[in-house]
Amino acid sequence: MAGIRGKDTKPELFIRKALHARGFRYRLHDRRLPGKPDLSFPKYRAVILVNGCFWHGHDCHLFKWPSTRQEFWRSKITRNRQKDRETWQALRERGWRVAVIYECALKGRTRLDPNMVIDTTEKWLHSEQEALVVEGIDEKSRTGAQDEKRVSV
Ligand SMILES: [Zn+2]
Repeated sequence: MAGIRGKDTKPELFIRKALHARGFRYRLHDRRLPGKPDLSFPKYRAVILVNGCFWHGHDCHLFKWPSTRQEFWRSKITRNRQKDRETWQALRERGWRVAVIYECALKGRTRLDPNMVIDTTEKWLHSEQEALVVEGIDEKSRTGAQDEKRVSV
């Protein structure tokens, strides 16, 4: 149900390897930055957060409220969401650009072409855009408007 939390998850390793192969160099879990972001790129003043959909309460098919210990999970996930917002804000206030890549962009039926995910991320790193969110696309509820919202390039 919950999966394993924490560092060095599969999607995170994929992103790390792929960007490294394209010549990007980064710091991992830099303690000096708010929220110890998964990857940080001082040269680009950018961080990348690779978020597990369950722990971060992402609104997608990989997230379901557990049927047991409901109260515990509600307060846990709600707290995680709150912490996410605070971390993003703290990073932005310090002048860092923030990209969030959700697990569902790389896993399950909503996953995107992995090369496209890396292309999008690479383009964003070289850009001056403040924020990027990469998440899976649910074909069933796919509409033009949603596409725009879901992959902001
Ligand atoms: Zn998700």
